[in-house]
Amino acid sequence: MPFADILGHDRIIEVMRRSLRGGKTAHSYLFEGVPGCGRKKTALALIQALFCSALPDDACGVCPSCRKIEGGNHPDIHLLSPLPDKRDISVDQLREMQRELSLRPYEAPRKACIIDPAERLNISSANSLLKTLEEPPGNALIILLTENAGMLLSTVRSRCQLIRFAPLSPEHVLSLLERSGMASETAALVAPMCGGSLQKALELDNESLATRREAVLSGVGQMNINRIATVFDAAEELSGNRDATLELLDMLLSFFRDAVHLGAGSGEIVNSLVRPAIESIASKRSLPRNLELLERIYETRRAVQRNANPKLSLDHLFMNMADGSR
Ligand SMILES: [Zn+2]
Repeated sequence: MPFADILGHDRIIEVMRRSLRGGKTAHSYLFEGVPGCGRKKTALALIQALFCSALPDDACGVCPSCRKIEGGNHPDIHLLSPLPDKRDISVDQLREMQRELSLRPYEAPRKACIIDPAERLNISSANSLLKTLEEPPGNALIILLTENAGMLLSTVRSRCQLIRFAPLSPEHVLSLLERSGMASETAALVAPMCGGSLQKALELDNESLATRREAVLSGVGQMNINRIATVFDAAEELSGNRDATLELLDMLLSFFRDAVHLGAGSGEIVNSLVRPAIESIASKRSLPRNLELLERIYETRRAVQRNANPKLSLDHLFMNMADGSR
């Protein structure tokens, strides 16, 4: 796909187009970001632009090379992922890929390989990749995708150009979902809850999501420091396993972000289907207080992600949220 079809990563794409024009693309890239934010699309678009003979810094989308990549059957592109039912990318798979890269390209100016996800390389496959990253056979382009570059061997990281992808904004997810044919109302429901991942947005169970959203809004509405039991009840009811708690925190983030928008005088919110509830959050506290809570929710999310106890983290957060004296 041409770069113009990729949403939300304008700065990264500008850098890539500039390096394509100057003939200065790196040998090895490491694309870091949440799965579903557009890393693989961008990797394929970069390869497509590199292979396309019609344009210097983008894919034309219509030449035979562009069409083969679009159809997923270009003979010079290799995708390396764990085999079905296997945890790791094995050293055998890696050697096979290295052998492929050492052959002359069939039709493209060079070969290309995408390793997804790179954190599934085990120690021996990662180690045998080092030499390839340093001097790719036949000038091949190698792109590693990862959720977290910190999970890779430092020797792998240091041999790649690191590109950090931000999660998609709810607005971008919304328009990608609508492009994919999802009904606007459903898209508006899932876009704010997917943590910037189109993939997650497509996976979310809409009906039960609507129910959970109601539960969270009602929990937030009832929190009152003078009825302390309600606070702990809400935490008890809403916390679950780590994934459920992270989803809850994503919802809270999106509600408070909207409340801050309203408080700052902007009428544009992403949770427009539950506007009255958001207005009530916005009017209950001052703008600085809602900004502070937004920051607290971010902190809590980071802590839960780093293995803090979900229930205790929520107790702490909800106590703070319920404290109306501040
Ligand atoms: Zn083309």
